Amino acid sequence: MTAQIESINPANGNTVATYTEMKVKETKAIINEVNQEWLSWRHTDFDHRAKLMHNAASVLRRHKEKYAHLMALEMGKVLKEGVSEIEKCAWVCDYYADNAARFLKSEEVDTEATHSFVSFQPIGVVLAVMPWNFPFWQVLRFAAPALMAGNAGVLKHASNVTGCALAIESMFVEAGFPKNIFRTLIVSSAKVEEVIKNEHVKAVTLTGSTPAGKSVASIAGGALKKSVLELGGSDPYIILKDADLEQAASKCATSRLINNGQSCISAKRFIVVKEVKEAFEKLMIKYMSTKVMGDPFESGTDVGPMARVDLRDELHHQVEKSIEMGATCILGGHFEKDKGAYYSPTILTDVKWGSPAYHEELFGPVASIIEASNEKEAIEIANSSFFGLGAAVFTQDKARGERIAEKEIDAGCCFVNDFVRSDPRLPFGGVKGSGYGRELSAFGIREFVNIKSVYVK
Ligand code: NAP
Repeated sequence: MTAQIESINPANGNTVATYTEMKVKETKAIINEVNQEWLSWRHTDFDHRAKLMHNAASVLRRHKEKYAHLMALEMGKVLKEGVSEIEKCAWVCDYYADNAARFLKSEEVDTEATHSFVSFQPIGVVLAVMPWNFPFWQVLRFAAPALMAGNAGVLKHASNVTGCALAIESMFVEAGFPKNIFRTLIVSSAKVEEVIKNEHVKAVTLTGSTPAGKSVASIAGGALKKSVLELGGSDPYIILKDADLEQAASKCATSRLINNGQSCISAKRFIVVKEVKEAFEKLMIKYMSTKVMGDPFESGTDVGPMARVDLRDELHHQVEKSIEMGATCILGGHFEKDKGAYYSPTILTDVKWGSPAYHEELFGPVASIIEASNEKEAIEIANSSFFGLGAAVFTQDKARGERIAEKEIDAGCCFVNDFVRSDPRLPFGGVKGSGYGRELSAFGIREFVNIKSVYVK
């Protein structure tokens, strides 16, 4: 029997589209075609690739409303956030078009040879296993550097955003890329193993949950293929006594509710020193309760539905369990049954050690406030997490903030007096349970290249 893959509109439960899962024979044939194309693509020069990548940026900008509409339909992203996401995708395309040659320029090394240098050569077909939460951005931040480095890509996107996956494939063709340099495989996660093991697939990058990361990493390790993992986070935001509380709460609320609360780098745990905790709670209630929840297609909406009903139910279970274990709910904490996957913006305070809101990733619009007696304890709580993706510190003493951000916090990035966001110019990735490897910047494009020494006597 052929399996079906469905996109369901999370705002109303209606089926958007149904796709037939590809058979093993089809995926093998596609990977063969992509590899065949790569054999020519690897020898193209940077100017040629850059021209096409700038075209991709133009195509993205031209169709930004259409793509935002598709994301809203498939995973509930608010339209205005969808448009911003596509603009950011165009930026990453332009950024790598402009900088790839510089990032991958050969480096001369002084040895006893007549000429010795380090060269950065493409490795071949790279598999990207991607999540639904930023359906275009997650893919483009992989694809732009990968293609500019001379690699080819195959995409296994999250099953609920297959329409976005196919739109990205067409976008590259419209930009003038060879048809087979970037292809989508419509397969379930159970088929990822055989794709990784395919002889033409040279490496894999996964953005997603911890269980998916563990599985992909072990399969890739067994096949001796490189992997990059961008996994979950429970980003701590430390609010110190000398913080500008109004500014801190406004940024914390915005970060917590971006993408309907479903971002790996949203603020999730708010670790507040005791002297300002009550004032911070009041401000968080003010900023989170004024966000408008509703139809993602309406221009006034700030928070849409979560991406799937099962994810909403899982989040509610984490909230209920945390309350049972001693947290107090000071905002939200509820949803309406049978009215889509909406979950009201929620604040839990006095979150207790051992409860889900303290240790697990809450992937929805729920803020967890934890009290700390001072800076030292706040840092200890921040670092006590399994995760280490992003973090932030709020203090009006910038030198203090910089010291904590640089030396004290165990995370892939730490912002001071602002919320964490990804940026093509800065490396992005985590430590500890948040994964390994880096995307974006010069570091990202060097993940999937052969760093080759050439020595001429
Ligand atoms: P997910 O369930 O892990 O899915 C991510 C991708 O992995 C999907 O394509 C999924 O396919 C596939 N997948 C799932 N289980 C797999 C397995 N055992 N083997 C191979 N592939 C598997 O994650 P999600 O719910 O879509 O996304 C949310 C998670 O991603 C959160 O934890 C979030 O923090 C994390 N995330 C991290 C970053 C980052 O940059 N660090 C960015 C965004 C999101 P199916 O859809 O077919 O199951």
